[in-house]
Amino acid sequence: MTDAPRSRSPLTKFPDITYRRAAENMVWHFCQNCGNWPIDDFAEVTTAQHLLKGSLCLECIAKRHFGECTMSTTRGK
Ligand SMILES: [Zn+2]
Repeated sequence: MTDAPRSRSPLTKFPDITYRRAAENMVWHFCQNCGNWPIDDFAEVTTAQHLLKGSLCLECIAKRHFGECTMSTTRGK
């Protein structure tokens, strides 16, 4: 048993995505063109993981589904 997972498969590598949530809300947004994208008094996290507490904005999910989501992504080198 020497299959230590020290290098991840490229298939599981996601670009970093910037998430924002309003200070008083636990819903995370990832589309900058979301109608509810927080513009002040927000928390921001940039991560490739989906390990955020709270839930994702349904409008953002719908935008992504229809290819209308303007995400802030940064790809690693
Ligand atoms: Zn949203």
